[in-house]
Amino acid sequence: MSIPLEVAIVGGGIIGVMTAVGLRRRGIKAVVYERASTWHEVSAGFAFTGAARVWMEQIDPALVQLLGSISQKTDASSSNAYWDGFHPQSIEDALDEKKSLMFRTPTNNLSFWGCVRSQFLRGMADMLPEDAAVFGKQLVSYDDTDEDDKVVLHFEDGTMAKADVLLGCDGIHSTTRRVLLGTDCPSGRAGFSHTVTYRTMVPIDQGVAALGEKVKYSACNHLGPNADLLVASGTLLNIAVFAYDDQEFPDPERMVVSADRSEIEELFKGWSPQLANIWKLYPEEKLVKWGIFDLEDNPPPTYARGRACLVGDAAHASTPYLGVGACTGVEDSVVICTLLESLQQQALVGDVRRRMLHDALQTYSQARLERGRWIHHHSRQMGQIYHWRHGPTGCDPERMKQKLEENWATVVEYDVWAALDPALRELATRPRS
Ligand SMILES: Cc1cc2nc3c(=O)[nH]c(=O)nc-3n(C[C@H](O)[C@H](O)[C@H](O)COP(=O)(O)OP(=O)(O)OC[C@H]3O[C@@H](n4cnc5c(N)ncnc54)[C@H](O)[C@@H]3O)c2cc1C
Repeated sequence: MSIPLEVAIVGGGIIGVMTAVGLRRRGIKAVVYERASTWHEVSAGFAFTGAARVWMEQIDPALVQLLGSISQKTDASSSNAYWDGFHPQSIEDALDEKKSLMFRTPTNNLSFWGCVRSQFLRGMADMLPEDAAVFGKQLVSYDDTDEDDKVVLHFEDGTMAKADVLLGCDGIHSTTRRVLLGTDCPSGRAGFSHTVTYRTMVPIDQGVAALGEKVKYSACNHLGPNADLLVASGTLLNIAVFAYDDQEFPDPERMVVSADRSEIEELFKGWSPQLANIWKLYPEEKLVKWGIFDLEDNPPPTYARGRACLVGDAAHASTPYLGVGACTGVEDSVVICTLLESLQQQALVGDVRRRMLHDALQTYSQARLERGRWIHHHSRQMGQIYHWRHGPTGCDPERMKQKLEENWATVVEYDVWAALDPALRELATRPRS
């Protein structure tokens, strides 16, 4: 008789928890090991495309129900507006659609459902039984040797755990990735994308006074040389400046350093009057600057080795310019859940099971590697387009719009099962109680 698979998931972020939900639904004993003392996620918003929701449904339909119950949904009237933040010489010109609106892209093509991260994480965690998560467990290394029939995880507090498979869902600075690829491999560490972000929130009235009524109705991105300003409204106006930075980032481990709003003033010198004054909306004290890191400069050569593999940002950490990092993690998750379910159904034992596990993780890696690389490459490219640093598009609205839509089409038209055995699609879409 086959013994149920035991899977250790390192990292209780969005993708680790979603994968645990998917594996538990398939009768696989998944346990999340999270370094924090409880579930934690920022209260910022993020969104899932319609395509990602298709894969999420296959992981577990309850996930889509949960998301639907807490989301704001884009409809046919919603579109992202891209404004010229640089050339307008007066506030009147900057507010005039005919003079300053570069283009709109219909967000309903992507059909985004946006939610608060912490709410979604908590909702997913509530779907797990109590024994599916252990907190205060920071992975420091693991052993995957022929002598042991399990992978052995070692935690900072001196304890250890064993499992048949280790899924590294430990995010951009993944320890699993460092161990899996070896400490000498440059992909072990994420690299600085040479872009940074300054974020703040202001009351909506203050945002309207600075940027006009338009910010109330749709997400607005103000583009220009080497920087862009993204605003999205709710009860408060979320403001994010993203900027090119040719220096090295001072604190790559923490990815955040204290900053001064004069840096923002400097960035927008010579821009349209609205943007030139945007620094005034930022606090005088306690301002921070986030370095944006990704795996573009040193993409991992593989996502799997032995009985361990990388899932989510641990595999393909991206800049946020394409806005689909978590959606890509959902794709990983449905593939790994289905491959492991398929293996569990074969009721294998001993060396055969071990060999087949290795093969399944290699199949996962081969299926996901190209997609992960495409995502972090094109995410960087989107940033360059917004910052007018991408040669073929320059500051030409038509070319920019065309490239953006081309990239988004590739995001949403992708079929995770296309390169895999058709039996896996059948297994993933099979009705079950
Ligand atoms: C500004 C911004 C906006 C974004 N907007 C979107 C969006 O709209 N849509 C979208 O699809 N994506 C978006 N993304 C990307 C998305 O946030 C990430 O892709 C996603 O959060 C990755 O989830 P994850 O679970 O793989 O990693 P993480 O969320 O980083 O979770 C990793 C978890 O592992 C834990 N951990 C780390 N190391 C260890 C260890 N050694 N041992 C144990 N636990 C460990 C951490 O504490 C954490 O809980 C955005 C990103 C940014 C920066």
